Amino acid sequence: MSLDKQSQLDRIAADIHKKNICPDLATQATQLVMGDGNLNADIVFIGEAPGKNEDIQGVPFIGASGKFLNEMLAAAGMERKDVYITNIVKYRPPNNRDPSPQEKAAFWPYLLKQLQIIDPKVVITLGRHSMEYFLPGLKIGEAHGEAKRVTFGDHKIVIIPLFHPAAALYNGSLRQTLIDDFLKVPSIIEEMKNLSEHN
Ligand code: URA
Repeated sequence: MSLDKQSQLDRIAADIHKKNICPDLATQATQLVMGDGNLNADIVFIGEAPGKNEDIQGVPFIGASGKFLNEMLAAAGMERKDVYITNIVKYRPPNNRDPSPQEKAAFWPYLLKQLQIIDPKVVITLGRHSMEYFLPGLKIGEAHGEAKRVTFGDHKIVIIPLFHPAAALYNGSLRQTLIDDFLKVPSIIEEMKNLSEHN
């Protein structure tokens, strides 16, 4: 019998503990922050790494960036319970520093496994840290808001790179760009659904 999605995700978390992934981060963090939301979602959002509040509560995007993300979801006609949200790095880096290339590389295989389990129609990367793994060589200033198809092994994924809410929060023009990109997401999802129905 195949395991349900939650049990499969729990196995990934257990594996991260067992293999002692990023031990320096693990000893300083309160806990592993795996993800939050609907395991059957059409959309998965991928941020950078948990911040202080996320580390304490074990849930991604619940601080200031999370509040902004919730507002944009609402403006695009969605709620958090409709989507799944995670990060490329699943422990809080000390003092909210950027995750290192080694830390991102260490968590990347686990992120791919998470995506295989949830199997969304679209993956939305928030900021350059998660974008660079899916769309290497692209610059977020040029690629933001445009859907791209990528293939990992036999898995086809549609990626929409967006700016990170934290970067846009206090920058008026970036904020508006992120909101405008976000509002395009529902129509991109519809297009994807139509395409997959006809293929
Ligand atoms: N920023 C992120 O990238 N992820 C979080 O979970 C919170 C803030």
